[in-house]
Amino acid sequence: MRPAASGPCMPIRILPDELVDQIAAGEVIERPASVVKELVENSLDAGARRIQIDVEQGGIGLIRVRDDGSGILASELAVALSRHATSKISSQDDLAGVVTLGFRGEALPSMASVSRFRIISGVRGDDRGAEIVAEGGTLSPVAPAAPMTGTTVEVRDLFYNIPARRKFVRSVATEIGAILRLVERLALARPEVAFRLRHGERTLLEAGAPASGASDARAARIDAVLGREFREHALPLAQAAGPIAVSGWIGAPTAARARADLQFCFVNGRPVRDRLLMNAVRLGYRDVLYHGRHPGYVLDLAIDPTLVDVNAHPQKLELRFRDSRQVHDFLFRAVERALAATRPLGLASAAAVPDPDAPGPGPGASAVAGADWNASRFESRLVVMPRRADSLRVAEADPRAGFDWRALRSTESVLDPELAERPLGRALAQLHGIYVLAETSDGLILVDMHAAHERVLYEQMKRSLDAGSMPSQRLLAPLSVALRPHEVDHVLEHQAEWEAAGFELERLSPSELVVRSVPAALAREDIAALLRAAVEDMENGDGRHHLDGAAHRLLGTLACRSAIRAHRSLSLAEMDALLRQMEATDRADQCNHGRPTWARIGLAELDRLFLRGR
Ligand code: ADP
Ligand code: MG
Repeated sequence: MRPAASGPCMPIRILPDELVDQIAAGEVIERPASVVKELVENSLDAGARRIQIDVEQGGIGLIRVRDDGSGILASELAVALSRHATSKISSQDDLAGVVTLGFRGEALPSMASVSRFRIISGVRGDDRGAEIVAEGGTLSPVAPAAPMTGTTVEVRDLFYNIPARRKFVRSVATEIGAILRLVERLALARPEVAFRLRHGERTLLEAGAPASGASDARAARIDAVLGREFREHALPLAQAAGPIAVSGWIGAPTAARARADLQFCFVNGRPVRDRLLMNAVRLGYRDVLYHGRHPGYVLDLAIDPTLVDVNAHPQKLELRFRDSRQVHDFLFRAVERALAATRPLGLASAAAVPDPDAPGPGPGASAVAGADWNASRFESRLVVMPRRADSLRVAEADPRAGFDWRALRSTESVLDPELAERPLGRALAQLHGIYVLAETSDGLILVDMHAAHERVLYEQMKRSLDAGSMPSQRLLAPLSVALRPHEVDHVLEHQAEWEAAGFELERLSPSELVVRSVPAALAREDIAALLRAAVEDMENGDGRHHLDGAAHRLLGTLACRSAIRAHRSLSLAEMDALLRQMEATDRADQCNHGRPTWARIGLAELDRLFLRGR
């Protein structure tokens, strides 16, 4: 292939303005959604309280954005359409601490050069408005218009004069989907502003302004945009440290989704999709997520504007932080800390039983571990009622003891003060060798014993590891374990992690390891089998998705492989011990793979099953 520069050269010359504008437009205006973004951001910068967006044919036919913001003076309309004209900054100093969404002065001229374009605007108190029309970048003179407060911008026939770009526009459904997602993001970013998005005759999004004095406009806006379910399965988060603060909601790990479509992050009111921030949140979920699943979150970061550069990306989606490590660690810790609270402790206060007469959650809803608890803990719609006096007490908590039918007829009230203090209740039985059944003060609990034990072990070992004191136990006689040569290599490559985990091992031969010490917590396990299983998991990369850091990954694997297996029968004492450990363990609501560890069926739900109290 011949380099383009060879052959008869064209003379060097300055490109006509129109072409320059069109080339520049390519950076800012990629598709209809970019037009919507720039226009709505301008409205927000103009202090609008109400923004109406009307779209036709996926935005290719028409995009009209109407606001009630400050408006543009007739004398400035033409300037607003020239390149690099902005009212938002005037010096380099302004740029360093910019708080408006726009500041490059590129959007309006870019749009005007690739569409049939019109602005009508008026300033409050002025007795006339003004309008200006542009076609493919050619401006007509400013003309008078009816008085108004605010601005309406119309962009018609987008890319009509750039067929090459037009070809890249996708189907109406795809483009309108992108527009909707964008408006959702902006509406979440600015709960104090009313938004309406219509496509043709259909209203796609309607989010009113919060009632004056509403205590939590953000919560109401999240419910309006994402639906109520999101917050029902989310934990609130609010933390601050020095120049940074974060607030919002993070989805319970058990409510994680197959797609990463519910992740919203705002920095000083600007929607961003910044990799550093997304990674920090992801890391906060590192060992509570079912692999391949994505958490939902709506997070609002406030950071001193001089510590963040928003001018690192033409669409300003990526940011540059003065101290990115600090921001990353702050966010990661905040998420991790909030998630550590997902343990069954809260149940004690959830002796608050939902009013059986009120339309409660459906039978499926309350059976999700964590989610139920989260909802009851953070929402005040649950009513606290005195504990039921007629709860049926199973004699001696031994399922094998004969059932005392007389107890059914007894009207004597049975109150067990002990139970109220045990969120996960008292073990009654093991079901199918998989689940522990426990009675609580307000219903019953089912625990997946393997999943629960795995989490308990993992957290225990992780604490020791992080404290640098993994209790290790020397074997009476060294144990030799036969592995395939590449497995031996693999273990020795990660020797530091194995040692940190409490193992002491070395190569005996190309296909044999000798183990001298093991983690004390695992001393009673079949070490050879455990070692083989762990090597296999690590080689397959199991765990890589959800556990971070090789050492934690190894612990996760060890915990999973040594946690009680299905079909091992447990005594009631052992089951009770497991329940107590869960209550004391961070993140006990889900196993290392993100599966729930327990579920609850409340008395109210049991009553519903048997039509009691109806
Ligand atoms: P930028 O937003 O980067 O300043 P734009 O090209 O988007 O650049 O807009 C140019 C200028 O036009 C803005 O700085 C602002 O003064 C004015 N403007 C644009 N849209 C509006 C609006 N909806 N209301 C009031 N002024 C606006
Ligand atoms: Mg702008």
